[in-house]
Amino acid sequence: MTTSIDSEFTLIERYFNQQRLQRDDVNLAIGDDGALMTLPVGHQLVVSTDTMVLGTHFLASARPEWVGHKALSSNISDIVAMGAKPCWVTLALTLPSIDEEWVAGFCRGFFALAERHNIQLVGGDTTSGPLAITVTIHGSVPAGEAWLRRSAKVGDNLYISHPLGDSKAGLEYVLNPERLAIPMTSSAVPVSIDAQQVSEFQSLLLERHFCRYPPVELVDQLRGKIQCALDISDGLAADVGHVLKASKVGAEIDVDMLPLSTALIAHCYGDKIMAQQMALTSGEEYALCFTAPSDCDLSDLPVYRIGRVIEQPELRLVASGQPVTWQLEGYDHFGE
Ligand code: ADP
Ligand code: MG
Repeated sequence: MTTSIDSEFTLIERYFNQQRLQRDDVNLAIGDDGALMTLPVGHQLVVSTDTMVLGTHFLASARPEWVGHKALSSNISDIVAMGAKPCWVTLALTLPSIDEEWVAGFCRGFFALAERHNIQLVGGDTTSGPLAITVTIHGSVPAGEAWLRRSAKVGDNLYISHPLGDSKAGLEYVLNPERLAIPMTSSAVPVSIDAQQVSEFQSLLLERHFCRYPPVELVDQLRGKIQCALDISDGLAADVGHVLKASKVGAEIDVDMLPLSTALIAHCYGDKIMAQQMALTSGEEYALCFTAPSDCDLSDLPVYRIGRVIEQPELRLVASGQPVTWQLEGYDHFGE
């Protein structure tokens, strides 16, 4: 029988110090004032931190498994965007009270993802206060080979790693659980959708909002081929702007090349333009966005070409070659 927990030390011992995974490069993990790890010779350490706060990044109704997953996946996404392999994490958890059921669920989501990518939890901090989660992730990259926002070149092609928009659609269900997809009337929807499928799409979109798997496998597959990447956390249009500014270039995105999921199109009542605009502005996607030289053949990889890098320092949207002038929410116009 489990006894209820009244101290932070019991909580750490029972939940955070239970990870089965032990990496050879961890010399000292949880239990001392700090952790000791050994970086492979010729590698650089990449460090990134993300915080999630109740009410800002998730609601109290969110499944704790998904909160645990998301706290880690947003960090893995940053490491991947640097072209690095995730290795170790620390977890700073602030809890209003010790709710064991919540902590157990959180740990299930967190550790399942950590184990999938061979990431070891090596330390953290547990404090009392308003619910907030800070994860700091450490990764390793061969020295000098990190992918940087400042490395885009005119003539490069622009890619993303998965269809965008679903996270934002999922968020609309979180904020408005009563939102119903209206039965399809538009010919833009490739299939006729019944009530059962509507509810399947809703579950899928919710899952895509909370439970993304960052494309860790692309780190090896793209190593040596690309030099510039970032992850999509605020929306494609806004985030590409960071690359353009850092690289002093522009980009042209062909909105007709944006891959769209069937669930997203259904969510948008079959309206393709609405779905394309969601794809451009959807945040918390944890997709990789990168540029690659035009002679680089990536046809055997699960990535989507969506445009190219141009000289004029602006983000240009075109639809099959024709300019489109959409006012996108969350998109900070750049260069004009
Ligand atoms: P200190 O007093 O030195 O800050 P703590 O008593 O807070 O140490 O933590 C004891 C050990 O447990 C440390 O090794 C710390 O890294 C680890 N730890 C504390 N909270 C967590 C957590 N939420 N997840 C993982 N490790 C934790
Ligand atoms: Mg402490």
